[in-house]
Amino acid sequence: MEKLNFLEEIIESDLAEGKYESIMTRFPPEPNGYLHLGHAKSICLNFGLAQKYGGKTNLRYDDTNPVKEDVEYVDSIKEDIKWLGFHWDKELYASDYFDQLYEWAELLITKGLAYVDDQTQEEISKGRGTIDKPGVESPYRNRSVEENLKLFREMKAGKYADGEKVLRAKIDMAHPNMMFRDPLLYRIKHASHHRTGDKWCIYPMYDYTHGQCDSIEHITHSICTLEFDVHRPLYDWFIKTLDIFPSHQYEFARLNLTYTLMSKRKLLELVQKGLVSGWDDPRMPTLCGVRRRGYTAEALKMFCEKIGVSKRDQLIDLQLLEWCVRQDLNARSNRYMVVQDPIKVTITNWEPGKVEYFDCPLNPAEPEGKTRKVPFSGEILIDRADFMEDAPKKFFRLKPDGEVRLKYTYIIKCNEVIKDENGRVVELKCTYDPTTHPQTGEWRSVKGTIHWVSTAHMKTLELRNYDRLFTLADMSQVPEDRDYKDFLNPDSLIVTEGYAEPALLEDNSGIAVQFERTGYYVMDKDSTPEKPVFNKTTALKDSYKPE
Ligand code: ATP
Ligand code: MG
Repeated sequence: MEKLNFLEEIIESDLAEGKYESIMTRFPPEPNGYLHLGHAKSICLNFGLAQKYGGKTNLRYDDTNPVKEDVEYVDSIKEDIKWLGFHWDKELYASDYFDQLYEWAELLITKGLAYVDDQTQEEISKGRGTIDKPGVESPYRNRSVEENLKLFREMKAGKYADGEKVLRAKIDMAHPNMMFRDPLLYRIKHASHHRTGDKWCIYPMYDYTHGQCDSIEHITHSICTLEFDVHRPLYDWFIKTLDIFPSHQYEFARLNLTYTLMSKRKLLELVQKGLVSGWDDPRMPTLCGVRRRGYTAEALKMFCEKIGVSKRDQLIDLQLLEWCVRQDLNARSNRYMVVQDPIKVTITNWEPGKVEYFDCPLNPAEPEGKTRKVPFSGEILIDRADFMEDAPKKFFRLKPDGEVRLKYTYIIKCNEVIKDENGRVVELKCTYDPTTHPQTGEWRSVKGTIHWVSTAHMKTLELRNYDRLFTLADMSQVPEDRDYKDFLNPDSLIVTEGYAEPALLEDNSGIAVQFERTGYYVMDKDSTPEKPVFNKTTALKDSYKPE
């Protein structure tokens, strides 16, 4: 039997009890940055649960803070969700409900449950008290309903400057849950909003907004991260006090990854300070970054499935994500040969000028599948690592007087090693064995097979080899006296050259490809016809194995 996670258990029991006819979830990003891998987990959960139980998911922008928000972010969020392969029911904005929220605020005032406070921000937070010390009541707390209504309407009309007044709920300044000590409902902000323009100069606070928006949309299961558990009683209080649709909030542990930071504020700082090339720098944990890196939506979904949901904070090994990427790419990606650190090999018994083409599978998992043509000629490059002069016995690649199979083509033998004045090997003179043609020749096996490219046909590539962005495994443990930016990995990008078989540049698979025997790479948008650029997605292999 399938093991349910705690959210599935709740949903199944709610449905069994007939509490709801169908379920409704929402994904509520604040459009103040690009989505990251943590959001992917939330998206997979919200959309995945609705899909599983025949419900729907709204995309609702939590756009209550006009200063930090932007349409650039609104658009990128939609693109990223679509890329992951999910479809929202309605595209909505908390700002769509500003009129309704305002009406409810007046209702709370009328009921004697909200008041306008003239205290400064500092006075208010001082007055809140602490966990072990009750707060003190504001001197403005007992204003009449009429006065509060008048002042609140004046706030809305723009009579006051930012910070001059706020609207607060009137609950209990001694409440053991600090959230109930007269929480702020509205603040004054004379700022243009990306959707409502200059219509408003007062904006509702998160706690006053989220639950009611859920309720308006009849969200049955409002899923958020653990740090919101202290907000839940307040979420419930507004819904109960206003007597509106009973949405419920459930919390799960946020995703934390080793060597990775996922706070939008810090990611924005990296972008603004030019420490990365942009939100879509392939080293960024943003969805546009990992997409540019060559990670697939399928791999991300596999990863979210594997990590599951928990009620306890967890630090997930980045290698698990890379493992998922390899799993997916290994099954689907096309193969090409690319030499990175070359040694020239001259085939001395090859007829000068002759070129022979080999039909090679694009993906060995599909032997009857598509092929590519690979040209072979009398001068090729092989990788330096595949040759060794004083080779140990177990070295089965090319060595002096040794033989090796060139992948997809003949067996060659190394007869002469040519070095420059520094003793560095610059050329190998070899002979090929014409009887070892892979289709028409006799079968003869040698222990090693290496990749190669024909120099007359090869294409030069810029390779951007990426590594983790930070050097500290648990980025929540940055010491107090240090800055997270001190832990940026100086070697997170190393640019090299590669020499590729020509078919690589005609690949139209739309996903990363495998450079045979080396790694997965994907063409970058910076490519030009003269200079194709490839990003390293991940290494071909790793000793890592998921539990
Ligand atoms: P950040 O701290 O990076 O700014 P946020 O929580 O403020 O993130 P929102 O745009 O408000 O970002 O998040 C939208 C949704 O995604 C929320 O429901 C939030 O709980 C969820 N989410 C954000 N980060 C993570 C994470 N690391 N793991 C799981 N869910 C996350
Ligand atoms: Mg947020």
